[in-house]
Amino acid sequence: MSLELKNLNYIYNEGTPMESHALKDINLTIRDGEFVGLIGHTGSGKSTLTQHLNALLEATSGEYYYNGENVYGENFSKKELRRKVGLVFQYPEHQLFEVDVLTDVCFGPKNLGLSEEEARSRAKEALKMVGMGENYYEKSPFDLSGGEKRRVAIAGVLAMHPEVLILDEPTAGLDPKGRDEILDEIAKLQKEQHMTVILVSHSMEDVATYVDRLIVMYQSGILFDDTPKAVFRHRKEMEEAHLAVPQMSELMRMLKEKGIDLGEDIITVAEAKDAIMKRWKEKNGSGR
Ligand code: ADP
Ligand code: MG
Repeated sequence: MSLELKNLNYIYNEGTPMESHALKDINLTIRDGEFVGLIGHTGSGKSTLTQHLNALLEATSGEYYYNGENVYGENFSKKELRRKVGLVFQYPEHQLFEVDVLTDVCFGPKNLGLSEEEARSRAKEALKMVGMGENYYEKSPFDLSGGEKRRVAIAGVLAMHPEVLILDEPTAGLDPKGRDEILDEIAKLQKEQHMTVILVSHSMEDVATYVDRLIVMYQSGILFDDTPKAVFRHRKEMEEAHLAVPQMSELMRMLKEKGIDLGEDIITVAEAKDAIMKRWKEKNGSGR
């Protein structure tokens, strides 16, 4: 799998007073098995970009190649692309509508033309991937918690066997427990199934913990595209893009100013804990 955008532009309502240049000269390559975070302030173009990746929107100008094939070419099947690039929308629970969980997750596979039996087997497998067993099959989607509804929606996309999974702010509006459960499931999928995942988020904490590569959008363009650690070294530029660095980066910087330097590139709580424990042992000896 590879996905390549070249000089992509998208303008909403071109030529009207409502015109909005939502993507400006986007150049981007995503490769097999990558776990990519996409962050940016509200209105920076994240959702517009994700909708290009599965061809729900077609660029005003520029090129898009999926596995080297021109997505905007005449013979390219956009329907097939939408199956390969699974997009879980923001607040996907608004799209749950079947009587029970299993039937809801079967909806996509059935639409692909699979038999009832195959669809059910895919749905069960997908529900298992998001940590939902048999006891959920007959529940009404409307009786589930916010986090559970999200997981059902994600299963609905997974049941289509996509090559790429895009999640647009999958944790928005969830409590910390629901949030961690979803992100842990996604991280597990990405590792175990070697799935390419694009996670849209506005939480620096989440992307710092989970992704390998971080794309920062600002004013319809890409400001940074690097490892999270490298991105978070740009504290000033991030602030100018109305984005904060992770709280741990900030804490480490403040400690350093007070003369306590625990090391560079600490961005997660786990890393901060390790650095503090290491320093403590150095000072107090390793015996307790
Ligand atoms: P994000 O997901 O980062 O919040 P969006 O991709 O939703 O950003 O929006 C990017 C820009 O495009 C914003 O200026 C937004 O107002 C505009 N926009 C988004 N959707 C539409 C739409 N359906 N019609 C017109 N403008 C839109
Ligand atoms: Mg959005």
